[in-house]
Amino acid sequence: MTLSRFRFLTLFTLACVMAEPAVARRQAVQLPRSAPVPEMLAERATQPEVALQPETPTPVPRPDEAQQPASPPGQAPVPEARPPENEQKVPEKTGDKQSSPQSDPRSDTVAAEKMPAGEAACRTRLHALNAAFEDEPAKQDATAGCSMPYPLSVTSLSNGIELAPKAELNCAMAEAIARFTVDIVQPAARSIMGRELAGISHASAYVCRQRHSGTKLSEHAFGNALDIASFTFRDGSSVEVGPNPGEKQGKFLDHIRKAACGPFKTVLGPGSDPDHETHLHLDLAPRRNGSTFCQ
Ligand SMILES: [Zn+2]
Repeated sequence: MTLSRFRFLTLFTLACVMAEPAVARRQAVQLPRSAPVPEMLAERATQPEVALQPETPTPVPRPDEAQQPASPPGQAPVPEARPPENEQKVPEKTGDKQSSPQSDPRSDTVAAEKMPAGEAACRTRLHALNAAFEDEPAKQDATAGCSMPYPLSVTSLSNGIELAPKAELNCAMAEAIARFTVDIVQPAARSIMGRELAGISHASAYVCRQRHSGTKLSEHAFGNALDIASFTFRDGSSVEVGPNPGEKQGKFLDHIRKAACGPFKTVLGPGSDPDHETHLHLDLAPRRNGSTFCQ
């Protein structure tokens, strides 16, 4: 290599080295100013590390959701069937005690200064049935929820047919039992037992308590129920409510029990459950559509 050629190569190399930053600068300038940042990098830059921690669960579709077939086009999805009503609410079974009462709109009813017209009319009808009764002071237990704003103490259901011991009832229930006694019990005493009805003995009327099962207040807590323990006749004999009453007595009790379903909204007795082996529970429980529960 000649000296002049060596110089040329050296100078050329130097020129290239010096020109490189300028090329780099030129290339940098040529980059678009708003170069898009890759999404992954942007997320990593802004999201806290915690989002990537393994304990953050990834949603996995549930098998039932995943397998649910799509609705046919133009057809709205059919909602899941509701469980039968008897699974949603406490069965309207008994009339007695428990622990945490559900609210009942009747619990808030307090006596007005003037007796409502409906209550007065009920008393007029009771007098027409020849029942014997007296008005009593209002009963209210705000804590338990028991309430009977216009109670009566009833001692007789009709001429010569006593209710013993004296029963505290609301007027609607007193009227219902008086009418039922005259229309059903007395005729059945004559036709089935061949005897004159003298009275009905009860085990409980108004009692501030909850049902035996469930959490609702008993109808007894509103003076809206009566537990009949026995029927007595003029000859001194009686028919006790129980599981083995005997043939004629059983026919008499069955007739009364069947006929009670309708005039009363709940009818329970021997065979219904262990709490009703020795009495007929009759009440006027308010239900949707006025339906009955007779067992
Ligand atoms: Zn009862």
